Formats: sequence, structure tokens, C-alpha cells
Amino acid sequence: MKVLQNYVNGKWVYASASEQIPVHAPSSGEQIVFCPRSKVSDINSAVDAASEAFEGEKWKAFKPHERGAILFEMANMIRESSDELAHLETLDTGKPLSQARSDVEAAARYFEYYAGAADKVFGETIPVEPGILDYTIREPVGVTAHIIPWNYPLQVASRSCAAAIATGNTVVMKPAEDTPLTAVKLAEMFDRTALPDGVFNLVMGYGAEAGAALSAHPFVNHITFTGSVETGSAVMTAAARNIVPVTLELGGKSPNLVFADCDQNLAANWVVKSILQNAGQTCSAGSRLLVESSVKNAFLKKVVERMEKAVIGPGEKDPDIGPILNGTQYERIEEFMNAVYDEGGTFLLGGAREVVAGYEGGYYFQPTVIDGLSSYSKVAREEVFGPVLSVFSFDSEEEAIRLANGTDYGLVTGIWTKDIARGHKVAEKVKAGQIFINNYGAGGGIQMPFGGYKKSGFGREKGLEALRNYTQLKNVAVRVY
Ligand code: NAD
Repeated sequence: MKVLQNYVNGKWVYASASEQIPVHAPSSGEQIVFCPRSKVSDINSAVDAASEAFEGEKWKAFKPHERGAILFEMANMIRESSDELAHLETLDTGKPLSQARSDVEAAARYFEYYAGAADKVFGETIPVEPGILDYTIREPVGVTAHIIPWNYPLQVASRSCAAAIATGNTVVMKPAEDTPLTAVKLAEMFDRTALPDGVFNLVMGYGAEAGAALSAHPFVNHITFTGSVETGSAVMTAAARNIVPVTLELGGKSPNLVFADCDQNLAANWVVKSILQNAGQTCSAGSRLLVESSVKNAFLKKVVERMEKAVIGPGEKDPDIGPILNGTQYERIEEFMNAVYDEGGTFLLGGAREVVAGYEGGYYFQPTVIDGLSSYSKVAREEVFGPVLSVFSFDSEEEAIRLANGTDYGLVTGIWTKDIARGHKVAEKVKAGQIFINNYGAGGGIQMPFGGYKKSGFGREKGLEALRNYTQLKNVAVRVY
């Protein structure tokens, strides 16, 4: 079976230890490849390479538009290999092929977007007093670490490394041990460009080993992390010891607020899409439905009808719902489902594992709708990370807002109403990083700053805003006369 290699300082290398991590295809449960189990010494080599490349003359000599040209080249290569990349992403994550194709296009767009931005990052002149010329320069921070989750591996890897390279930094990336395949392809593509050795490095391994070593490394100057709150907190603690800034994107419990006056068919389509996409394993999944009491029954009927029709199957067959990543993630969902009964909830749909003929080794979960839970219950407040929708009703705007804000998270909120003034008013009061009125996601939103309030994290990825993560500001004051 194929053993993947790390990519360090422009070379493909085996990890120092002989142990490897088996990687399984979620759709079938079968092993597909081994990934290296990198240890501290492997992380040290990658960070050293990134550090030397950052200080080296070669990378510093790149003009901003030349950095952009490399990123444009990456976007082109991603599009040329889009079929291969989509199949790899589906194999690795189990997600439906058409969703993997969208992820590949999003990845290309991130490279293209930040390619164009590379020569448009600049400082200001600041009026201080006659005779003083004061100006600021946006400088790269140095070695940037990128710890990538398993749910959107290619997209998340692309968005942060493209922004970091556009601004002149160097990168050490650690993909999730469950889903390393497309990160390896990115490294292969970088290898074909004129990027100097050491600017992009890829090190694979377990989070608690390789990820922890990377987070704690004193030569890392910024960490971008996407994943769970617990791990985000561990990464931030390690970074704090070195006074290193972090950008944390930590998931959510995002609500769709459905008012009686909305276009109910449109809202129902999106409520369903927002929770079924990637089998609910999405940080911005619309996992709570808050619906105005007067239309609750009629609206729920539409939602349940749509969810019932969802086809469950292996990613390669492009169903509506693919498998859950692995047994561990499945068991987490099952625990939540057991709590539903204890917490007085009722299943309007689903709630159990689905066995797919010919793919018995995969963990498939039925589309699930739960009613009757208290808004204080575990299932109502915590991230399930499965195709599981919890339903609550409200009688007033105030109650809708209180429910929307009633969890520790604040990533995304959907508001469905024809009363746009109300849409704005509710948007103002909801504590979330992204609000969508009469849509959910705006087609992917490469350009829109993305990140959370509260335990959904801080710092923003995507859009021009992300460039701030990878630059630091220097102020220069010159006496000119
Ligand atoms: P995780 O947060 O532990 O893993 C995410 C990434 O962090 C992986 O690359 C992992 O190897 C790495 N990591 C793990 N421990 C680390 C450590 N101590 N130091 C540095 N890096 C470390 O997530 P998980 O255990 O795979 O999933 C658990 C839950 O997390 C999921 O059920 C879901 O609720 C949430 N999650 C959220 C997202 C998201 O998009 N926000 C993504 C993945 C998981």
C-alpha cells in the first residue's frame, strides 16, 4: 500500500519514525493509503526550512506580482486537475462528488483571489506634524502554521496558504491525519512552480503529536487553525506561550430564522441544504431551525418532505448525503442521539445509522429532524457534526433573537423574511460572524470575511480581511526638515 511522504524544503521525505497512520475511505471503510506519523523532529525540519526560506534572499527577492503569478499558476493547475482532485477529495472524505467538485473550484478561486491581491497590500501615510513624514508598511509575519480539518481539506488548505504566500510568508501545513490526499496534490503543484524551496512545506501526522509540536514551535509566527473548540483552545494555549497570534475557526450551532412572511419553499430548500451538505459535517451547518410558531407545522412538513427524499450513499455515486468520516465521529453522533430521549426530544425523522448495501464498512447516518428539545439541552447547544436538525419555535422577533444567540457559538445565521427592514434589524442583534438574509452562503463567498463570535473563534479568513492575519504593521517616522 502506498505510503505518503512529507514535503519539506522542496523535497519529498519520509518521516523520521517508521510508524505510519492508515487512512481509510469513509464510503467503504477500506484502507486507501498510509500517511506519515511525523514527530517533533519532522516538524522541526519543516519549521527550520520555512524559517530559512523566509530569511533567505530568494523569497525576499520575489516581487509581489511574482508571488501572485505563482498563485495564478496554482489556480490554473487546480482547474486542469479538477476531475482528479474532486475524486481524491471524495475518496478521502466520502463527500458527494458534486460537492467535492465545488470544493475544487473554491480552492482555485482562493488561489486566484489572493494572487490578484498580492500586489495590492500596502500601508498608509499618516499626518503627524510639519517636517515629519510618517508611513506604515505591511510586512509578512514570517513562518505561518496551518492546521487543517478533515471536513473541507482542500478548500481550507487553499484559503489560508494562498493568503499567507500572497503576503510573502512561508508555510508549514499539517492536514488532518484522516484526509491528507489533496494536500499532497497541492504540494506536488507547488513543486512544479518556481516557488523557492522551503516556502511551502507539508507535514502529516496526528494532531496530538505533529499538530501539537507545530503549535508549540517557537519559530512559528502565526497559526491558522480550523477544528474543534477543545483543540483550538490547546493550540491557542501553546501559541500563547510563544506570544504568537492565532486565527481560530471553531465551528458553530448556526440557526436559520424562518419568519412566517418568507418564501417558504425557498427557505425550506436552503434549511435542508445547509444541514445536509457534507452530511452535516460543516462548521457553518444550519443545525438549528427557529421557525415562527404560526407556520411551524406547515414549514416543518416541507422540511421533512425534502429531507425524506435525500439519497444516502457513497460519495462516488454523488448522493445527497455521503458517509460520516469514521466510527469515532459516528459514535459522537450516536451519543447525541441517545441524549435526545433523555432530554425529552422526539424524532420527526431519522435518528439512526443507515446501512448502505455494498458499503457496510461506511458509517452512514439518516437525515434527522428533532423537535421538542429544550433550548438548553445538549443537542440544542452543542455541535453534532451530522445531518441532524433541531427545531424550535418563536412568537416574536425578540424571542427569535434570544434563541439565535442562545448558544456558545456565533458563526453563521440565516434570516428568512420578505420584510427587509426586519432582516436588517435582526441581523444587527444576532451575534454571528456572517449573516445571510434570504440565502445561506451566498454561493461560497471567497470574498466575504468569515469567522466567529464567541466560541466559534476569532480572526477572519476569506476576503481581503484575511490578509491582515499574515501581515504586521510597521510605522516609520522620518524627520524630513
Ligand atoms: P480536531 O479539532 O481535533 O482536529 C482538527 C485538526 O487539528 C486536525 O488536523 C488534527 O490533527 C489537529 N489536532 C488535533 N489535536 C491537536 C493538538 N493537540 N494540537 C494541534 N493540532 C491538533 O477535530 P476532530 O477530533 O477531528 O473532530 C472533533 C469535532 O471537532 C467534530 O465532531 C466537530 O464538532 C469539530 N470539528 C469542527 C471543524 C470545523 O470545521 N470547525 C472541523 C473538524 C472538526
